[in-house]
Amino acid sequence: MVRLHRKEHRDNPEYYTPIYKMALSQFDAAADKLALDPNLRKRFTDPKRAIMVNIPIRMDDTTVEVFHGYRVHHDTTLGPSKGGIRFHPDVSLGEVSALAMWMTWKCALMGLPFGGAKGGVRCDPHALSRNELQRLTRRYTAEIIPFIGPDVDVPAPDVGTNEQVMAWMMDTYSQLKGYSIPEIVTGKPISIGGSLGRVEATGRGVVYCILEAMRHLGMTPDGKTVVIQGFGNVGSHTAHTLSEKGCKIIAVSDVHSGLYNPNGLDITALQKHVQKHLYLKGFSEASEINNHDLLELPCDVLVPAALSEQITEENAERISCTILAEAANGPTTPTADQIVKDRGIFLIPDILANAGGVTVSYFEWVQGLQHFFWKEEEINERLRDIVTLAFGKVLQISLSEKVDMRMAAMMLSIRKIADAKLARGLFP
Ligand code: NAD
Repeated sequence: MVRLHRKEHRDNPEYYTPIYKMALSQFDAAADKLALDPNLRKRFTDPKRAIMVNIPIRMDDTTVEVFHGYRVHHDTTLGPSKGGIRFHPDVSLGEVSALAMWMTWKCALMGLPFGGAKGGVRCDPHALSRNELQRLTRRYTAEIIPFIGPDVDVPAPDVGTNEQVMAWMMDTYSQLKGYSIPEIVTGKPISIGGSLGRVEATGRGVVYCILEAMRHLGMTPDGKTVVIQGFGNVGSHTAHTLSEKGCKIIAVSDVHSGLYNPNGLDITALQKHVQKHLYLKGFSEASEINNHDLLELPCDVLVPAALSEQITEENAERISCTILAEAANGPTTPTADQIVKDRGIFLIPDILANAGGVTVSYFEWVQGLQHFFWKEEEINERLRDIVTLAFGKVLQISLSEKVDMRMAAMMLSIRKIADAKLARGLFP
């Protein structure tokens, strides 16, 4: 019998897309540094399980369209798996698998009793009518039903999905089970058991990390300039909270365009504009800037809050910031990572910077399971404590081991899950 060796395994094109290779190279670097047991190493390399589904939908014009959907569980050592659902034209098995792996590290880093998962449908949600989107969401949920459950795997919003999509998922799951099960998803509306503070949580977590980084670097937020790529859930709430802290948001962008005002943008007005017009375009109190130039604007804090692979070997030499806060998942490629490190930019890695979302998702899941709801101040306070504590631990490892913050965060997470795997042993 021919044994499938690891190297050959990694040539398998299903998982090993460029983004998965990126996630894996981060893991490899940390595993090398930890001198991780090779048997454990193999177990982290591929997702635990993955499902691919075809989703037939009746379009408004009565034709039937078939979409591809995915749900991947990377690891479930610490508890049920947890991770968002992405609706985007670039969704693939490799992308979802990379995002699932990052969720594993993120949950462990925050001390949450979850493994990592991610899901998605390859579609352009903005090109679908509301009814088409609802049918797509419901059929996708029905197709992945053997894979999800409050004790099994708990989805949440990600790029292209929102509270409404979560409400349809919760309703579909509940209808098929025969009773209401709000704790099947997080990031759902408050009216059906969502948590106060969940919508803003990822942005708030990003801000708590930036404030800690500033404290470490001897900076104060007052008047510091910030550039944010992406003005969706994460980007807009990061902008809003940072401007409340006294920072000056000088540029933001979305998929179509960017806005620049060296005197600072009025974020509340901008949020209202986007609520009304969906996109940034047409906002008058700023000049236009493209996404490419935006990333290279001189600023104190640069926050990529859109998609992955935005800071690459092509532009890493030209980004001009003191702090790079990765609000998006995987915005910096490994080659760019090295350049950022060599240039002395203080990086807050994605698995730490954007972990506020899954932390309040955890609060939402706990509240749902207990049918007992907390006050918003309580939620925000607990969020701040957890994020600040994790930041402190990562910084401590970074300083004592003389490694960058990404390596420190990965080392902490992997060690935690590796210990748990060793304690549990290998079945059978
Ligand atoms: P979203 O769909 O609400 O917003 C995405 C934003 O990025 C939009 O403004 C969109 O126009 C913009 N965008 C898309 N493509 C772009 C491009 N090529 N250039 C510039 N802008 C572009 O999504 P979100 O929930 O805010 O997620 C943003 C990032 O944060 C993703 O990487 C996601 O995985 C990550 N994240 C989200 C959460 C969460 O709770 N929503 C939690 C953790 C991490």
